[in-house]
Amino acid sequence: MLQIYNTLSRQKEYFKPLHEGHVGMYVCGPTVYGDAHLGHARPAITFDLLYRYLMHLGYKVRYVRNITDVGHLEHDADEGEDKIAKKARLEQLEPMEVVQYFTNRYHRDMELLNVLPPSIEPHASGHIIEQIAFVQKIMDKGYAYVSNGSVYMDVEKYAKDYPYGKLSGRNLEDIVTETRELDGQQEKKHSFDFALWKKASPEHIMHWPSPWSEGFPGWHMECSAMGTKYLGEEFDIHGGGMDLMFPHHEAEIAQSCAALGKESVRYWMHNNMITIAGKKMGKSYNNFITLEQFFAGKHELLAQPFTPMTIRFFILMAHYRSTVDFSNDALVAAEKGLARLTEAYQRLMKIKASANSTVEIGNLRERCQEAMDDDLNSPIVISHLFDSARAINTVFDGKGTISETDLAELRAVWKIYAMDILGLQLDGAQDASAGMDAYKGAVDMLLNMRLEAKRNKDWGTSDKIRNALTELGFTIKDTKDGFEWSL
Ligand code: ZN
Repeated sequence: MLQIYNTLSRQKEYFKPLHEGHVGMYVCGPTVYGDAHLGHARPAITFDLLYRYLMHLGYKVRYVRNITDVGHLEHDADEGEDKIAKKARLEQLEPMEVVQYFTNRYHRDMELLNVLPPSIEPHASGHIIEQIAFVQKIMDKGYAYVSNGSVYMDVEKYAKDYPYGKLSGRNLEDIVTETRELDGQQEKKHSFDFALWKKASPEHIMHWPSPWSEGFPGWHMECSAMGTKYLGEEFDIHGGGMDLMFPHHEAEIAQSCAALGKESVRYWMHNNMITIAGKKMGKSYNNFITLEQFFAGKHELLAQPFTPMTIRFFILMAHYRSTVDFSNDALVAAEKGLARLTEAYQRLMKIKASANSTVEIGNLRERCQEAMDDDLNSPIVISHLFDSARAINTVFDGKGTISETDLAELRAVWKIYAMDILGLQLDGAQDASAGMDAYKGAVDMLLNMRLEAKRNKDWGTSDKIRNALTELGFTIKDTKDGFEWSL
């Protein structure tokens, strides 16, 4: 039976869904004002592993992962300005163009990492009405106050009725000294009060009408509103990176208890962080490496490019609650390990069965399941696969034999655990799609050369390219602004 570590109870608990056979799971998604980096890859892969395993166990899973596209206030040099709005202003774009651009790029990166898309991907900007209604509920229960058009959570009042800080293990005194949101300090009763709704300043371009002011919702509000909208007032799992535990998730608990009189989430799960050469990722360290930079090998900290599968494998080689330290050496080791598994998988598909087995395949299936049931222990699953790779190589090298039953079992377990659950593409699917891109790029390049030749009235070269491609079976059509081709 699956056990998962619940951050709230600080222990592993047997997972029992609220509704038999169904699981509702919510994960905090990206803020789309820049390219995804290694820090985005970890929660995406961690909760993809959970999603895949729950489906393997036979659950019908509704997986909600949001897109944060409004009012994400973090105090930095441009205190108070929404980062998406800022980017739009600087690049003279409509804010939703910025959102769409980075959302598309995020999706592409996730697809390359073989992260399955969630069942629902709601945008904060598309759920303003639900967020206003949620704020109103908190107002009606008397746990919020209006100040200068903004609405704040009355944390002191809330903390008299409910334990505030229990997820992150903080008390109000700790929170006073580390309050993050400097914005609006003079409007609040206490520094630890957080915004549920913010009145927009005149230069703020993303704003909506509300009973309190023309403004935008506080950052924590979207997850409370969208989580309960799609999964119900109570749901099973809420996940995210450990850095979101406070204030974000703590605030979500307070919002739910204040508005609904109960907690919405039964199991809180948090993945640990990625450090780079022992340091936190952060602007001040200038060590944000985007996923695109990893795939292309273009960053001063990178010695070479690393494929999306290597990044995925690297992250799964550590348990999700351990820290992962990025280094070139660690990634090179992951690359080698993945190559060994890929080779073993491809050999497993080639080897032939004999009358009986001289190699021991053990109870691989049970051992893999036991590891996954133990709070998604992916490194242990990987070590079992490596053990099994040794048996495969022995048979492949002709130093042992395997029976038909054992071979079928081994193939089934590798398919389930390596490919379906860990999500490793060991069958060369990724190489094939990379090859497809290269092939399309090469044809486009030839046709662009032909276009240039035509412009220069170099009919000899133009015809030569066209005839050669036609002979190879391509159909080329000249269009108004270039060409179209098919095979
Ligand atoms: Zn969230």
